[in-house]
Amino acid sequence: MTGTLRDAPVTQGGSGESPADYEAVIGLEVHAQLLTRSKMFCGCPATYVDAEPNDNTCPVCLGLPGTLPVINRRAVEYTVRTALALHCEIPDFTKFDRKNYFYPDLPKGYQISQYDLPLSRDGHLEFSLDGRRVRCGITRVHLEEDTGTLHHAGDVLQSATSSLVDYNRSGVPLMEIVGEPDLRSAEEAREYLVRLRQILMYIGVNDGNLEQGSFRCDANVSVRPRGTETLGVKVEIKNMNSFRAVQRAVEYEIARQIAVLGGGGSLHQETRGWVEARGATVSQRSKEQAHDYRYFPEPDLAPLVLGAEFVEEVRRALPELPEARAARLVEQHGIGEYEAALLTATREEADSYERIVAAGVSARLAANWLGNEVMRLANAEHRPLTESGLGEDGLVALLRLVEAGTVNTTTAKALLEELYLTGGDPAAIVRDRGLGQVSDTEALGALVDAAITANPKAVADFQAGKETALQPVVGHVMKATRGRADARLVNRLLRERLSG
Ligand code: ADP
Ligand code: ZN
Ligand code: MG
Repeated sequence: MTGTLRDAPVTQGGSGESPADYEAVIGLEVHAQLLTRSKMFCGCPATYVDAEPNDNTCPVCLGLPGTLPVINRRAVEYTVRTALALHCEIPDFTKFDRKNYFYPDLPKGYQISQYDLPLSRDGHLEFSLDGRRVRCGITRVHLEEDTGTLHHAGDVLQSATSSLVDYNRSGVPLMEIVGEPDLRSAEEAREYLVRLRQILMYIGVNDGNLEQGSFRCDANVSVRPRGTETLGVKVEIKNMNSFRAVQRAVEYEIARQIAVLGGGGSLHQETRGWVEARGATVSQRSKEQAHDYRYFPEPDLAPLVLGAEFVEEVRRALPELPEARAARLVEQHGIGEYEAALLTATREEADSYERIVAAGVSARLAANWLGNEVMRLANAEHRPLTESGLGEDGLVALLRLVEAGTVNTTTAKALLEELYLTGGDPAAIVRDRGLGQVSDTEALGALVDAAITANPKAVADFQAGKETALQPVVGHVMKATRGRADARLVNRLLRERLSG
């Protein structure tokens, strides 16, 4: 069915070659669960993580005889949306096929997938890495259904063991995104995945959870003598559930293959599993034992004719994608490219930034705070600004106080940290606690004089040319004002006095 084995064992290379003589070739296959409410071919809920085992099941997704599948329209729409975001062509005519194999997590004995007429093909994903543009072709994006999950109790290697099966995940809509073998390093493979995940989350079709496996990847790796065109024998790697694992597994596999070929050995097509604890890939099965899936058209489903109107409708509804959005922010607000990339990492964060700027806060000030202090807190507290006590409105209020010079940066940072947790009105708190910035030249002048008297050694060092010696003197004034002094003014007054 899959044709002849074109990747029969071959021998390449020989002794006396170095790793630099080889080029790595990587092609990624990504499976992404779609964020639909119901499953692919029945009305059961598609969420399964918090459900009791086998609660979200029905005769259709349990594969009972006499049931018929019904295509989830939203799943088709999400797949087309993805395909369009990846610049794919959407053929007029598409169909589903049965992929037959036997495993306890697949109750029907076949998976409904797409074989020769997928929903889309011939797209690409382009991204920047180390100042270069990388373009990876997308072979196809197609739609299928997920399997159930097996839970092995006890050590599988011991005889006293039992396995339990949970069909909650059975029939969850699953999109497969097949990439061309256009990637040339583990870093490129990782970045491709980061960008792909970001796009899927931006367009709202996937939650991007590698750990739980709603976004998962198989990496195909081969090497070939540098300068040659023919593809080498590929090895498929599975079981990676983080970006770091993908990068490490690909790196390991490239080095392993080069070592085999460099030592005069040969490679054969196989599937290997990444074993995190060992930091190595381990052979699972060879191509010779690979399944013959005996694909044939799914007789219970009519082919799909999407129609140009439907496709155009989906295209019109596509949101601005992350790269375009970052470029627009640079253009529109004069912020740096790095900052823009940071602020557009997720659609929610980018929306937040744009709402805060729309509320009248300076674009640069907002970028600076969101990209630094707020991001740090969001990570530390495991909740975004919008779910913090402060919220976007609170941050806007706080930044207004900064812009107006009502509070200095030190006070504002302390307030941000406190209000992120507790919430509250920044202006009222500043008033009630008397946190307003001290920028009265006379009052500060007196404190500056006192600080100079109290720090003779630092003052002498400064006057001898040591710039940093001024810090404790400034600190003295800050302390005296409980951190409220206008730091710039304090610096100016100090320098005036010490240079006079
Ligand atoms: P198979 O028939 O084994 O499924 P495909 O040609 O369909 O292989 O490719 C599956 C994936 O493997 C794709 O992502 C593709 O880019 C990648 N791939 C194919 N050949 C190679 C190779 N020689 N080296 C690295 N990746 C490859
Ligand atoms: Zn069901
Ligand atoms: Mg294939």
